[in-house]
Amino acid sequence: MILNGGDIYRIILADKTIKLYFNNSDIKINEGIYLYGAYGEEIIINAEPHNVIPIVLDGISVQQGAAYAVAGAGIALKSDWFNVSSNDSIIDLSTSIEDNKLRIGALLNDKVYVELDENKNITYSGSELKPSVNVYYNRNYMSSVQLKEGSDYNVTYSDNINAGTATAIVTGIGAYSGTKNVTFTIEPKKISSPTFDGFKSEYTYTGQKVEPEFTLMDGDTVIPSNEYEVSYSDNTEVGTATITITDATDGNYDINCKAEFDIVKADPVINELPVADPISYDPHKTLNEASISGGAVIGVSGENITGTWSWADDSVVPSVDVTDYDVIFTPDDQKHYNSVRGTIQLNVSKADVEVVELPAASGITYGDNLAKAVISGGRVSFDGIDQVEIPGTFAWKDESIKPFVSDSDKTLYTVVFTPADSVNYNTAEIEITVNVSKAAMPNLLLSVDNTHKTVGSIALPGDWTWLDADAKTAIKAGGSVMATAVYVGDDKENYDSTELKITIYRAACSEGKTVKYTLKGEKAPTCTKSGTGHTECSICGDVMSTGVYVKELGHKWNSGRVTRKPTYTATGVKTFTCTVCKAAKTASIAKLATTDISKKTSKITVSGIENKIYNGKVHTQKSLVVKAGAKTLRLNKDYTVTYSKNKAVGKASVIIRGKNAYSGKITKTFTIVKAAKGKTYTVGKFRYTITGAKADGTGTVAIAGTTYSRSDKKFASLTIADTVVIGDVRFKITSVSANAFSRYTALKNVTIGNNVTSIGANAFLSCKNLKKMTIKSAKLRSVGAKAFSGTYSKITFAVPRNKATAYKKLIKKGSPSAKAIYK
Ligand SMILES: [Zn+2]
Ligand SMILES: [Zn+2]
Repeated sequence: MILNGGDIYRIILADKTIKLYFNNSDIKINEGIYLYGAYGEEIIINAEPHNVIPIVLDGISVQQGAAYAVAGAGIALKSDWFNVSSNDSIIDLSTSIEDNKLRIGALLNDKVYVELDENKNITYSGSELKPSVNVYYNRNYMSSVQLKEGSDYNVTYSDNINAGTATAIVTGIGAYSGTKNVTFTIEPKKISSPTFDGFKSEYTYTGQKVEPEFTLMDGDTVIPSNEYEVSYSDNTEVGTATITITDATDGNYDINCKAEFDIVKADPVINELPVADPISYDPHKTLNEASISGGAVIGVSGENITGTWSWADDSVVPSVDVTDYDVIFTPDDQKHYNSVRGTIQLNVSKADVEVVELPAASGITYGDNLAKAVISGGRVSFDGIDQVEIPGTFAWKDESIKPFVSDSDKTLYTVVFTPADSVNYNTAEIEITVNVSKAAMPNLLLSVDNTHKTVGSIALPGDWTWLDADAKTAIKAGGSVMATAVYVGDDKENYDSTELKITIYRAACSEGKTVKYTLKGEKAPTCTKSGTGHTECSICGDVMSTGVYVKELGHKWNSGRVTRKPTYTATGVKTFTCTVCKAAKTASIAKLATTDISKKTSKITVSGIENKIYNGKVHTQKSLVVKAGAKTLRLNKDYTVTYSKNKAVGKASVIIRGKNAYSGKITKTFTIVKAAKGKTYTVGKFRYTITGAKADGTGTVAIAGTTYSRSDKKFASLTIADTVVIGDVRFKITSVSANAFSRYTALKNVTIGNNVTSIGANAFLSCKNLKKMTIKSAKLRSVGAKAFSGTYSKITFAVPRNKATAYKKLIKKGSPSAKAIYK
């Protein structure tokens, strides 16, 4: 028996040798396989490894280990599959699982059925939908056991968001394995009133189809545009347009709805404003009278649209000015366009007026100007829509004009009418005449300054002359007279008389400040004497005061000149001269200032003062130098020198006194000593020791050495003089001291003076370059030990001829070289 699929209630096997083949996993045996009668031999079951095959025996116990059933090719059924207990009519093939063998009982296959927990509609929500699943294991056809999620199986889902068929996948765990699917349907979400986001209730007419953009919303969720289709109707013309939303097939939503919006009239755009023709003012003319022309208005597609311009408020009566008024453009196409408003200028000019009744002028007298002629009456009207009387005033165009009597009621003068409303009306000009009557000559007062001594000296305007009889009348200063002027002008007929009586006042005199000396007996002041004069009126020149005393003027000294120069000892003289009268006076000029040499500020220094040796005569300081700062003062010109106590042994004084530019005195001292044997003095570069002293101060000295250093090359030659002056006293040089010039290595030549009688021991010791020694003295009597020892080996001694022999013997006592030469 071969089963190829399907739902089988039960299989009854009556032949013990029957073979049962399950070729398809979809075979479902609802109740079981029943064996009747001939059981016990063999059942061959060929099955796939996922079928569940209950075998129900006919009330007979199945012994464990009996071969009731054998597997087909590749499948071995073992006897212990059959968990048989007594009187149990069901053999549950669930207990044994072998690899790659028939797996029964734990498989989630036909023995298991899966159902959704609730059989209600599942609707698209945008999220995963996970309806609960119940899983039952079919123990028999009478009852079932529910498996537990988590311990027996897990559930996963696929395709469970979008509308359509979704699957719940039950996967066995624990004692169960395999999977079993159950499908469920996700229904699309029905939206009857979605929200139109970004959609307005009104759109302006464009001449084109209006298709507003919007986003369809399900609450806060955007409904994708592929879920629906949009169509528009009535969406070009002004009016109500409709949007129809139609659900697209499939998809997650079920949408069908409508929305409406209004297409409203467009505002046309003014491309060019019209212009108003200028008008003139008229109180009865409204804006309606001003015509408007031109202008261009553009519609939604940039096309010119036709229509009419009108004033926004044509009841306005425009006044004179250039004023902005609103105009309205009313399109012919009122179906699609609104009216539009603009502002344009209207130029209203003033209106002309007409004088319909001339005014009259009051009469004036000759000499008056037109200002005196009062204008009255007259009537002015405006010739507009209605004749209107225009209030205003008349005035002379040139009121400075002075008409003559001859102009009276004859000459026309221009009168200007100025309307009260000068904003809106022009002025008007007309001409009228004036009555001019003759003028009477007035009495005049005339004040003149007091240069005018007679009436005739007062000048009159060109057409006037003084009455001859009056011209010579004198006028006192500060007084008055009356005189008659006669008018001779061309217009004299404009007056009722040609004579004018004038009262003339002459100003009082005023005294001048300047005194004059021109009258008899008057005298001008001089440098030293007073004068007498008079003053005159500064205006008319009359004498005002006489006998005016003016005191002497005093000298006017020049700046003077030095007539004797001052000296350091005598004052000078300055002489001044009067530039007017040449008188002279003198003034003393102070002595020249001297410098007091005793004062520190004079910076006087005194140098060159030496101590002296007593010689029985007065000593002076020949090297004395007096300086003021760096300047050396001159003896007997800048100072003098005197001495006191300058002869005897003791303290002597030098007194320096300032002379000429210098004053004061400085006293310096020096000492006069007695020459003492053994005392050494330095003169120039040499030292001398006094060896003998006399009462007059003269005596003898020994040359004792030099201030040159031993190796100084400048000291190559030594000449010992006959005498030397020490402290103003002349001494004979009679000896050379012991050691005086020992070891002077630069010394080459020595001359011994005429008065030398002895040369001391070691005097020239080790002067190794001393090559020549000239002895001029004829009195040499002693030469000390080693005096010439260590001098040049071939030293030459030049001695007086007559002393050659004696001196050679004497010199040798000084141990010169044996090779020394003697001449
Ligand atoms: Zn005067
Ligand atoms: Zn003078």
